[in-house]
Amino acid sequence: MFKALVVEKDDDGTHAAVKDLTLDDLPETEVTVAVEYSTVNYKDGLCIGPGGGLVRKYPHVPGIDFAGTVETSSDDRYAPGDKVVLTGWRVGEAHWGGYSQKARVRADWLVPLPDGLTTRQAMAVGTAGFTAMLAVQALEDHGIKAGPALVTGAAGGVGSVAVALLAALGKEVAAVTGRPEQEEYLRGLGATQIVPRAELAETVKRPLESETWGGCVDAVGGPMLARLLGQMEYGASVAAVGLAGGANLPATVIPFLLRGVNLLGIDSVMQPYDNRVRAWKRLAELLPMDKLEGMVTEATLADLPKLGADILKGRVRGRVVVDVN
Ligand code: NDP
Repeated sequence: MFKALVVEKDDDGTHAAVKDLTLDDLPETEVTVAVEYSTVNYKDGLCIGPGGGLVRKYPHVPGIDFAGTVETSSDDRYAPGDKVVLTGWRVGEAHWGGYSQKARVRADWLVPLPDGLTTRQAMAVGTAGFTAMLAVQALEDHGIKAGPALVTGAAGGVGSVAVALLAALGKEVAAVTGRPEQEEYLRGLGATQIVPRAELAETVKRPLESETWGGCVDAVGGPMLARLLGQMEYGASVAAVGLAGGANLPATVIPFLLRGVNLLGIDSVMQPYDNRVRAWKRLAELLPMDKLEGMVTEATLADLPKLGADILKGRVRGRVVVDVN
């Protein structure tokens, strides 16, 4: 017997509760992992609650990422005792996920725990931090320009890690937040400038404003992304990661045509293996572990229904590490 957060659905909607499961309840896939830590990402909020169309079948075990130790493996790449990390591949959505003391997954979906990180640190990074690294790598690949780097949704999970990574690269970082009370937290992560969310909330009136930002990691999307495209330096790039502020993009193409601005799409879910390993290695090297620790709130499986609701309301700061045991 082991414990997991199980979401069930009836005529009244979905209900999440910690339940006992057995190994026979898990899907028949190659690698069984004793999960040590998971996290809470925006998508987890959807999957713990009514699902947002992501969960197709109930009962369901959410948790889009986890880190732990291999117990059994029918695949040569992994052996009992190996430390592993999983993000993406629709685990926790279409497949049972990491809010469980045991998980059974495909070997293709795992990466070895990177040297220099514990399983707890890997989940302090989690999908949000891994995606922030993918975004920063994409900006680097296209050239980060001289002006400050802008991070939207800065006090959230993706945003917090993006601020710390860009600061670690020696960039000035401007953090956009709707929570002015998080200024000290954001400066502690390396932000040199705080931009109130309201300043970027107005929709595009002029397609080009003054060239201000040398790069951007955008977790918000919507009218804010449309607006900041017109504020990018000539040739600078925006890594579009999220839609916390909306999925529509009421923009013009003028910043692309007259300023050579690049809009880079970032997907963490289907990211190829080699780039996953590259991003995790870079995180272990670049991300200051004291700053990572400063982002962390600890939680247990029983805390998840509340945390899931909180993250959907933008009330979670930084990263939540879930000790499933
Ligand atoms: P969080 O909830 O931790 O962070 C989102 C932040 O966005 C909030 O903390 C808040 O920051 C800001 N925000 C919330 N609502 C609004 C709003 N209406 N307008 C403007 N800003 C808002 O979520 P995550 O960091 O885990 O994820 C961020 C986004 O990235 C989500 O949309 C998520 O789905 C997406 N994502 C995408 C991935 C991919 O593969 N492309 C992978 C992981 C996440 P503040 O309080 O500082 O303003």
